[in-house]
Amino acid sequence: MSAVNVAIVGTQWGDEGKGKIVDLFTPAFSIVARYQGGHNAGHTVIVNGRKFILHLIPSGILHDGVICVIGNGVVVDPRALFSELEQLQRGGVKAAGRLFISERAHLVLPYHRDVERAAEAGRGDQRIGTTARGIGPSYEDKSGRRGIRLVDLADLADADPAGPLGAAVRANVALRNRAVGGEPLDWRTVFDELRAGWPRLEPLVADVSQLLDDEARAGKRIMFEGAQGTMLDVDHGTYPFVSSSNGTIGGVCAGLGIAPRLIGGILGVAKAYTTRVGGGPFPTEIHGEFGAALRESGEEYGASTGRPRRCGWFDAVVVRYAARLNGLEALALTKLDVLDGLTEIKVCTHYRCGGRTLTSVPASGTRLAHCAPELETLPGWSRPTAGLRRFDDLPGEAVRYIRRIEEITGVPVALVSTGSDRHDTIIREESIVGRWLA
Ligand code: IMP
Repeated sequence: MSAVNVAIVGTQWGDEGKGKIVDLFTPAFSIVARYQGGHNAGHTVIVNGRKFILHLIPSGILHDGVICVIGNGVVVDPRALFSELEQLQRGGVKAAGRLFISERAHLVLPYHRDVERAAEAGRGDQRIGTTARGIGPSYEDKSGRRGIRLVDLADLADADPAGPLGAAVRANVALRNRAVGGEPLDWRTVFDELRAGWPRLEPLVADVSQLLDDEARAGKRIMFEGAQGTMLDVDHGTYPFVSSSNGTIGGVCAGLGIAPRLIGGILGVAKAYTTRVGGGPFPTEIHGEFGAALRESGEEYGASTGRPRRCGWFDAVVVRYAARLNGLEALALTKLDVLDGLTEIKVCTHYRCGGRTLTSVPASGTRLAHCAPELETLPGWSRPTAGLRRFDDLPGEAVRYIRRIEEITGVPVALVSTGSDRHDTIIREESIVGRWLA
């Protein structure tokens, strides 16, 4: 079959289980490329009984021979990168020659974390509940045209603190000191850390746009790995309770420097219910004991921060919106097994807001916060789905649930995940995903 490059995007507020799907697909691809976000994301992958927690480096690195790419749209914290490289080295995984980072990628530096902490504290009860990794302030510097990119470090060989890089670090640290107050940060410590880190970064830096174009022309298959989710997209999500990048499909081209025609397929990942971590509106949220019980059975705690995730019913308004924005051809429905044993399951088909019916997500967060979900009740299933690997083995009620999700989102469910193990997955062979992986 011809080489189909596939993008995998989150349809909800992140944590949809993209990591497992990416891991499952990786053997069919030569390259895995991240296009946005930073070390705010997180995947835990277990290989031969050894646990790896990766935030920045694509988990494709755990597959021999797969090339991993970090695009210009990603913000890179050298400390986080080094710590992941060390983790890989300890686990016997060789990243050298397989990991490439765009020379145009912006850096996340210690002052970004300080600025973020101060900004969050200043927001009081309107705080976003960020991951406190400095991601937002790094993107702010990028848009403010004062950011520091990997390519800027290339001049460090003749590291003159009075040169352009030193001047940029000094100016940014001065801004930080004004914004944060308290003990001032010394720009020289940041500069010296960059200088010390450069020899480790240099071999990884590449022209990623060119690399991907060359590989695509050579017939190599590329997977584009989204981080966070559609509802955390800075333009299309629940602004301002969002992350600072475009996790939706448009981010792929801008964040890697590739042409749209290189994207051959688009798969959305949706959890069989909904979660979000941090603040912001969440129409189908379940409060109280039942929400807490769902959190426990789904082990819904943040991979990056360990924070408890808020849990709610499947919201078809959100997933339909994600389907339109991203042009989804298929859905991977994850964590179906977490709903095992419930007597009834609800799905939100549309919202009621100010006496009107809404079938899509409103732009105003205030309006969304006042939307009541219209919930439809479906029967649960008594026979467990956990670990099932064939669609025909699913209980009838689970099949009915999946078919209803297909109807109300307008997207076929090509893949169902029934457990954390890579093999606990149902791939409908007749589906488009079945054909991609054939
Ligand atoms: P930031 O990306 O750290 O600026 O956080 C902004 C919002 O996005 C917060 O609500 C975070 O909890 C959320 N967020 C960021 N990354 C992830 C992720 O990978 N999964 C889920 N939520 C995330």
